[in-house]
Amino acid sequence: MYDVVALGEMLIDFTPAGKSENGNTLFETNPGGAPANVLATLAKFNAKTAFIGKVGADQFGSFLGDILKKENIDTQGLVYSEDVNTTLAFVHLSENGDRSFHFYRSPGADIMLDEQEVDLALVQNTKIFHFGSLSMTHEPAKTATLKAVKAAQESDIIISYDPNLRPALWKNLSHAKETIIEGMQYADILKISEEELEFITGITDFEEGTQFLYDKFDLKIVLVTLGSKGCFYRFGKDTGHINGFKVNAVDTTGAGDMFLGSFLYQFIKQDASWNSLQATGVEKMIIFANAAAALGTTKNGAIPAIPHLDSVRKLIGGESNY
Ligand code: ATP
Repeated sequence: MYDVVALGEMLIDFTPAGKSENGNTLFETNPGGAPANVLATLAKFNAKTAFIGKVGADQFGSFLGDILKKENIDTQGLVYSEDVNTTLAFVHLSENGDRSFHFYRSPGADIMLDEQEVDLALVQNTKIFHFGSLSMTHEPAKTATLKAVKAAQESDIIISYDPNLRPALWKNLSHAKETIIEGMQYADILKISEEELEFITGITDFEEGTQFLYDKFDLKIVLVTLGSKGCFYRFGKDTGHINGFKVNAVDTTGAGDMFLGSFLYQFIKQDASWNSLQATGVEKMIIFANAAAALGTTKNGAIPAIPHLDSVRKLIGGESNY
């Protein structure tokens, strides 16, 4: 049995890498896609994981498949398409260091995953099934995603959900909101950023915003990630703010994914069940996730920046039994 199986987008992020002799911008090919980053984090800590998604049968697709294999993530659910190319995204940095993404996805392989191509045996043979919202921006991947999520739900598998708002990928913002909400009704564990919480609920207060989501959906844990400030959580009636760790952050790419992968790792390691889990247990998981994600910001990139378990334990310090 797998610890975590994730379905979603995997693509190439072209990140600026200096200038050529001619003075033109050079780009480096990096693996991108939140669900794969979540799995890579879990795999780094030795959890058993598998990825479901689609890339092109091209050089970029082979590169992405090889990355997953190198990270020890099972790739039997990865489909290589002869019909469409691997999705590409170019990252541009503004003068003040802000990143913007331009996607080449018309259509890219990630959104062409067909429901017939989803290996439901993988989805039903895991402790946790994880998905995001970006595999629901277009058909046929939306139907494929929801088919997998429903199969997981029918098999009583814990479902983790990370809605991601990349405005350029949706028809418009109301399409984004509607679809993100559609995914939320299946989630047990919801990871959401401050901005996404406000976008979905229209509420800036974390207590109220998470209560609103609890009243509307059958959620068990809501994790609101707050960058260097750590995380606000809701677990039933219990809420709390767990501070982030102070580090010298150089690149926050994938910090949210490392946070969630680390949280899910602790959830599995603590053998958590909804009947016995207490707020103190959830807080312990968040402390670990904050520490791992903080360390992940001290190096460039997402997958290459995932820290070793020993470094995470060391940062937490004390008598921690992580
Ligand atoms: P994304 O990766 O898509 O931007 P996100 O918005 O959820 O996702 P953040 O809230 O920026 O990501 O970060 C996730 C977690 O990473 C935080 O909750 C925190 O634990 C850690 N983190 C991020 N930035 C820092 C930082 N500068 N210092 C310490 N920890 C950080």
